[in-house]
Amino acid sequence: MPVPFEVSGWLEEFTIAVEQSPAATAITTTEGVIRFVNRRFEEVTGYSREELVGQTPAIIQSGHTEQRVYDELWATLRAGQVWRGEMLNRRKNGELYWEHEVITPVRNAAGEIVSFVVVKEDITQRKRQEQELRLLAVAFETGQAALITDAEQRIVRVNGAFSEITGYRAEEVIGQTPRLFQSGRHDEAFYDRLWQSLAEQGHWQGEIWNRDRAGNLFPVWESITAVSDEHGAVTHYVALFHNISERKQREQELNRQALVDHLTGAGNRRALDHDLVRAMSQHDRGRAPVSLVLLDVDHFKRINDTLGHDHGDRILCALVARVQACLRAEDALYRWGGEEFCILLSHTTAAGARILAERVRRLIGADPMEGLAITVSLGVATRLPGESAEALMARADEALYAAKRAGRNRCVVAE
Ligand code: GH3
Ligand code: MG
Ligand code: MG
Repeated sequence: MPVPFEVSGWLEEFTIAVEQSPAATAITTTEGVIRFVNRRFEEVTGYSREELVGQTPAIIQSGHTEQRVYDELWATLRAGQVWRGEMLNRRKNGELYWEHEVITPVRNAAGEIVSFVVVKEDITQRKRQEQELRLLAVAFETGQAALITDAEQRIVRVNGAFSEITGYRAEEVIGQTPRLFQSGRHDEAFYDRLWQSLAEQGHWQGEIWNRDRAGNLFPVWESITAVSDEHGAVTHYVALFHNISERKQREQELNRQALVDHLTGAGNRRALDHDLVRAMSQHDRGRAPVSLVLLDVDHFKRINDTLGHDHGDRILCALVARVQACLRAEDALYRWGGEEFCILLSHTTAAGARILAERVRRLIGADPMEGLAITVSLGVATRLPGESAEALMARADEALYAAKRAGRNRCVVAE
């Protein structure tokens, strides 16, 4: 068809524009044979114009796009409609890339489709980001409870584990600040340190008590990270945490067991050492007097020898129960060893300690224990200013020895 001169000038301009367009563009016959590609199309595919013209787009197919996509594409084009879609293709160097394509049927004056115009956009980068986001979304929902706030500490996102642990649904906390979960168990200095660490290191981790929706307090191990933009300004805080109630309970139980005598349930020697140091430091600060009562069962060897060791054990348990019943909350009983016990009186003067020791002695002797009349001897010592634990203990022990020498079943107060 002859083309008028004016139109030819316009066509040339148009051709140049398409040639230089940043969108990869091709024109194919109705059979899909490539007649024209622009420069961008060459760049994207890695094939030269000579290699592409005369071929079909099969040359760049990756084999990863499902057949139904092509079926649908051809059905749409044959119906004279524009097809839009995404495909995974392969460059000449073998690299896979995603592209978004728009294929438009071109009609002649008679309305017949004479060719197709293909315009493609490389969307590999976007696809990668989408996939990364999908992976991150899965990771976000897996494992620890997670909470994200903006720079003003308004919650923008929480995950399923968060709801499980706290009892709050996402829509109940979005827009609120994590102060909602404060347990009241930490002082201002604690939160100051937390924020200082976030400001200086961009990170904080530690144990923290929170309050759940029902008002219950629970300990978590939490790690908080400040997320900054490219200028270093904080944009978000990400907090990950898990409940450590069970671990804490186990720890507490182990700690408790480590301080308890297994036979009688009284404190053990380690517990006495620990509590005595504390009582002494209070005494040093001028708070309260500290007294010790050492108690040893009289002729216990004989009891063992006649009734058996097990019976002896039962007597020790009964004795502990009886002594504990007459102690105040601030007094404590420890098994010092064998059938020797120690009572720590951390708020008691020498006079008070003597009265208590005498009461214990009478109480034990008052009724038989496990069917047997038992007596004990007691040594009482009250701490002198600055006296060491060893010296105090030695004086109580001497007093006890004196009680034994004096005939047993009595209390002696150390000089
Ligand atoms: P006394 O104190 O009046 O001088 O005479 P004692 O016979 O009680 O002498 P001592 O305190 O030296 O003897 C301690 C005895 O206590 C030795 C052991 O037979 C007994 N004993 C020590 N530990 C246990 C224990 O765990 N269970 C039992 N059943 N007996 C113990
Ligand atoms: Mg004894
Ligand atoms: Mg003894």
